[in-house]
Amino acid sequence: MPFETTRFAPSPTGRLHLGHARSALFAQDRTEGGRFLLRIEDIDTGRCRPEYEQAIYEDLHWLGLCWEDPVRRQSDHFAEYREALDRLENLTVLYPCFCTRKDIGEAPSAPHGPDGAIYPGTCRDLSRTEKESRMASGKPYALRLDTAKALRTVSGPLRWHDRARGWQEARPEIFGDVVLARKDTPASYHLCVALDDHLQGITLVTRGADLFEATHLHRLLQALLDCNVPEYHHHPLLLDEHGHRFAKRNSSVTLAHLRDKGVTAEQIRQQVTC
Ligand code: GLU
Repeated sequence: MPFETTRFAPSPTGRLHLGHARSALFAQDRTEGGRFLLRIEDIDTGRCRPEYEQAIYEDLHWLGLCWEDPVRRQSDHFAEYREALDRLENLTVLYPCFCTRKDIGEAPSAPHGPDGAIYPGTCRDLSRTEKESRMASGKPYALRLDTAKALRTVSGPLRWHDRARGWQEARPEIFGDVVLARKDTPASYHLCVALDDHLQGITLVTRGADLFEATHLHRLLQALLDCNVPEYHHHPLLLDEHGHRFAKRNSSVTLAHLRDKGVTAEQIRQQVTC
């Protein structure tokens, strides 16, 4: 399909490695003469660093990628994410959760979803008075999506299309009641991605197969927030010789290191293209 708008959305928490090169080139190669956008996913302000953001631009230019200006930097848009949370609150599909990470981790034999332990729902049915008094006491809380209620709120079955794996019925319930905001990170990855892909007019979301399940949840958020539903293409992850994913902490596979060793951008392209 011609004229796609695709994007590459790295987080500036370390140097880009070969796995990122695959994702970035995969996205640009699928624009079919359309648009390629870059998004800096830096909502986790405690872990993101400006020098890594600069390094992203440098590494991507070296790879030969061109993107449109301005780059969307998520940390510039907290007000938009807050407004999306307000819309979800108006739909009454959010609730404050006062459990600490420790409280949740301690739940014996908790079932797990793609993002870790599934929340047992402890705070889901707190009375209004209880919620208000805990909030007034200054106790920190997260905002969780009441996923079952959210699914009842949207009309019809939700589907999405993956170019590699075909039509999918959305199963956001595999995540349980996910956190969409917390005190230290006022908007979650899932919320920002669903909204940003819509606001940036992305028609084809390409990303690694490790995020395949996340799309089930993004599809629900799109329905709740009246967002456009893009096409998806989750590509196979690039693995090292031991069958492991590349990690930012492994400096030997960063693009900067390979470039310093004399590897060319064309050689990287050949190595990562799938
Ligand atoms: N920021 C995410 C990452 O670095 C990618 C998110 C996406 O492509 O949806 O893994």
